[in-house]
Amino acid sequence: MELELEPIKLEGVSEERPLIISGPCSAETEEQVLSTAQQLAQKGVKIFRAGIWKPRTKPGGFEGVGVEGLAWLKEVKEQTGMYVSTEVATPKHVYECLKAGIDILWVGARTTANPFAVQDLADALKGVDIPIFVKNPVSPDLELWIGAMERINNAGLKRIGAIHRGFSSYDKKFYRNLPQWHIPIELRRRIPNLPILCDPSHIGGKRELIAPLCQQAMDLGMDGLIIESHCNPDCAWSDASQQITPEVLDYILNLLVIRSEHQSTENLRELRSQIDDCDNAIIELLAKRMRVCREIGTFKKEHGMTILQTGRYNEILDKRGAQGSLCGMDSEFVRNVFEAIHEESVRQQMEIINQ
Ligand code: PEP
Ligand code: MN
Repeated sequence: MELELEPIKLEGVSEERPLIISGPCSAETEEQVLSTAQQLAQKGVKIFRAGIWKPRTKPGGFEGVGVEGLAWLKEVKEQTGMYVSTEVATPKHVYECLKAGIDILWVGARTTANPFAVQDLADALKGVDIPIFVKNPVSPDLELWIGAMERINNAGLKRIGAIHRGFSSYDKKFYRNLPQWHIPIELRRRIPNLPILCDPSHIGGKRELIAPLCQQAMDLGMDGLIIESHCNPDCAWSDASQQITPEVLDYILNLLVIRSEHQSTENLRELRSQIDDCDNAIIELLAKRMRVCREIGTFKKEHGMTILQTGRYNEILDKRGAQGSLCGMDSEFVRNVFEAIHEESVRQQMEIINQ
């Protein structure tokens, strides 16, 4: 299904990349909301964010100030002229936000993961013309993400955008939520006119990752950034380690290099043809490797040997990983490639054995 979209045009907000949304993870107090908003407005930010109802992993944490905070967002609008946005997860949230004149809504990652909840939101929004951003579901499931946007689109909303906030994983070594950039890239390919923002705060989970993630998002042609900021980040009641001051936000945004997608493509054509050559060589080599594997399969069959020789497999992964790293690549990446190649080699040998 195609989404029927209209551009999210906002009066007074530049249409140039990147669209910026910023503000605290959560609205905590009236002073915190207004102080952060005023500082952001001074830096030229036009769209304010603040979570009013917070989906927390465990009970007992700060679950948001609730309806009371909507009045503070109204105050932000009046004092600064910024557009205000917040997360909605239930029909009641939608109702309260519409009543309070919230300008932009977003659907959080945990809600996107639940089609019943998204359908409830869509039903509550039926016939309302309000811009809405849909964060990716916590799991790397593009269909679920698109499905949520379809439900909202079917309710008549056309000003829809997506937010890439990374994907949950058990192993939180570096990122809080893995970026898995190929997923938003595939989303762009599937729905080219859908604006995609990146949320480096929830991907990185740490302040120092925000600048590089913003740059990566821009280099991938994303349309905007939603970044958590707070007048006193260390004392934030939620997501303290990933929030930055409006001052730091401004610094990061000023350093961003925004490359045009429409620059001369002459050099690019030459480079792309080099890539094509590389890919051809890779495929030919892989085909050769598979032929050798099948020969090994025949040998193993004739000599009654098992297909999987674990010692050899580990040796290949370790050696190739180390070699890749010597050549300037990430050893984990090289190991992953060889895991996939090995999986296919085993499959090929199984075929031979079962012939
Ligand atoms: C948020 O934006 O504060 C938030 C809760 O994000 P997510 O739904 O991406 O976890
Ligand atoms: Mn947050």
